Amino acid sequence: QFKALVVEKTADKQFVREVRQRSIDDLPAGDLVVRVHYSSLNYKDALSATGHPGVTRQFPHTPGIDAAGEVVACDSGAFAPGDRVIVTGYDLGMETDGGFGQYIRIPSAWAVPLPEGLSLRESMALGTAGLTAALSVLGLERAGVTPDRGEILVTGATGGVGSIAVAILAAAGYRVTASTGKEFEEEYLRELGATEVIGREELAAGAEKALLAERWAGAVDVVGGPTLAAVLKSVKYGGVVTCCGLVGSPDLPVNVYPFILRGVSLLGIDSVQASPGIRREIWQRLAGAWKPAGLAGMVTECSLQGLEVMIQAILHGGVTGRVVVNLLES
Ligand code: NAP
Repeated sequence: QFKALVVEKTADKQFVREVRQRSIDDLPAGDLVVRVHYSSLNYKDALSATGHPGVTRQFPHTPGIDAAGEVVACDSGAFAPGDRVIVTGYDLGMETDGGFGQYIRIPSAWAVPLPEGLSLRESMALGTAGLTAALSVLGLERAGVTPDRGEILVTGATGGVGSIAVAILAAAGYRVTASTGKEFEEEYLRELGATEVIGREELAAGAEKALLAERWAGAVDVVGGPTLAAVLKSVKYGGVVTCCGLVGSPDLPVNVYPFILRGVSLLGIDSVQASPGIRREIWQRLAGAWKPAGLAGMVTECSLQGLEVMIQAILHGGVTGRVVVNLLES
């Protein structure tokens, strides 16, 4: 028996959440059983926990797209008992019971070994948000956006992906402008490495125009919608924008001018199906040169019981940094 957050769909189609005892026997099939020490809260977990059909359709369900812990048993021999592993993405926390439980059972191909230089707690302070931020920076790097090209914009900058993107870019030598709806968090963003902070409204102003003045060498966007449109219209000639999120809107009301007049590129970022090879490479970098100096300061820790408040907060864009879920003390 172990504790897990269970989301239930009621007869009148409401979604209710409570911490319950579950049994390992009831977990989905898989060759790897992990005792979860830490998980983390991502925007997608809040969608799963509130019944968003784009994330989870089968209930009762335990969300949690991230988990880090110790291997209990591995039938395939890929890992030995006691090995420390990180599991993010794939189907974890979507239809497969996820990290908001003290045990998970999954295919061993979903797990990567915890790299030297990271603790299990730090790996979840990064989690899917860290992997996504790092994939975004890698995308810019591979597209030739070097620090000498100019400023890089990060939207939704106080959120999970945004905070880590600001920190990685600063560590990699870029000048970073952070866009936020929480201007009272300017100090936090500067500590992460932002050299400039601008308001969300200011950034999206003029989004309806054909093009805006050229400003950014590149951008990491988590917002989508008119914000991403405005960003594309204000990227310099030959610039690159990564797109990973939709907290503003899944729509993209843009014209072709940034692409055909300024040679701007839009790079899609997906962390869910990222290959095992790229995951290992990214986790190595996150444990080394890209490990954010201010990682500890980004974290709010909660227990399974404390998740409800944080789920409501993240749904309303109210979380600064990352929420780590402590399963050992739940
Ligand atoms: P998060 O911690 O909630 O951060 C999102 C941030 O966006 C908020 O903190 C807020 O920052 C800003 N924001 C919220 N609502 C907004 C609105 N209506 N308009 C403009 N800005 C708004 O979420 P996250 O975990 O970082 O995830 C961010 C997005 O990336 C989500 O859409 C998530 O689904 C997506 N994502 C995608 C992948 C992938 O593989 N493609 C992986 C991870 C996450 P400010 O107050 O600072 O503006």
